[in-house]
Amino acid sequence: MRTFGGFVATDHVNLVVEPGARHALIGPNGAGKTTLINLLTGYLEPSAGRVELLGQDVTTMAQHERCRQGLVRTFQINQLFADMTVLESVAMAVSEQRGLGTRWWKPLAGHGEVVDQAAAILERLKLLPDAYERTRNLAYGRQRLIEIALALAMRPKVLLLDEPAAGVPTSESQELFETIAELPREVTIVLIEHDMNLVFRFAERISVLVSGAILVEGAPDMIAQHPRVKEVYLGE
Ligand code: ADP
Repeated sequence: MRTFGGFVATDHVNLVVEPGARHALIGPNGAGKTTLINLLTGYLEPSAGRVELLGQDVTTMAQHERCRQGLVRTFQINQLFADMTVLESVAMAVSEQRGLGTRWWKPLAGHGEVVDQAAAILERLKLLPDAYERTRNLAYGRQRLIEIALALAMRPKVLLLDEPAAGVPTSESQELFETIAELPREVTIVLIEHDMNLVFRFAERISVLVSGAILVEGAPDMIAQHPRVKEVYLGE
């Protein structure tokens, strides 16, 4: 449970994500999705209840420690990255993850292993052709892939994707999701996404959050047919 003042943002949410899952969290604006993700990552502390990660109680664990334990969320690219090349950005994240610091990244020469690992991540996300482009010059859909690349540099066991297709034109979002769908099963994925076409194609399990509680949870087919979901969420 999380309250803000007297307001209850989430209550009695029992969300279990299985290893290797492709699990989506959907719900109308204000349903509590962001609050729930913030509780999982440790950005917010629950007012009551607990959070477990891979069998370990992490309720009081700091965000960076949860990240080290394998719980990684995507974050928005900030100005710092705009002038860097795609490879530099990801190499910097790899370096940070390895505890090597982030000041060395220019030039990349002499840091072969870090660069190799960054290049492998770019390859996985089909970003290798853009390795030497400045991130700001990429199409928006590909910029959002860099966010995922930065998250992968943290070696996630559980990856929280917070609206990866937000602001991405439909023509690019399909490709973005095809790439996400090819990520290896060692990485469990929890997705928040507004575009229902993408959610229903990608997710194998969907939890519908309404007014801070899980209304229903199950396979996409079941969710799509659920009368309350149609009524409350899809507005039918
Ligand atoms: P969603 O991500 O599903 O749109 P949120 O988690 O952002 O929903 O919000 C859930 C509810 O909690 C909303 O009614 C919102 O106004 C409220 N809320 C979220 N964060 C805060 C905050 N920091 N202070 C007060 N109320 C908040």
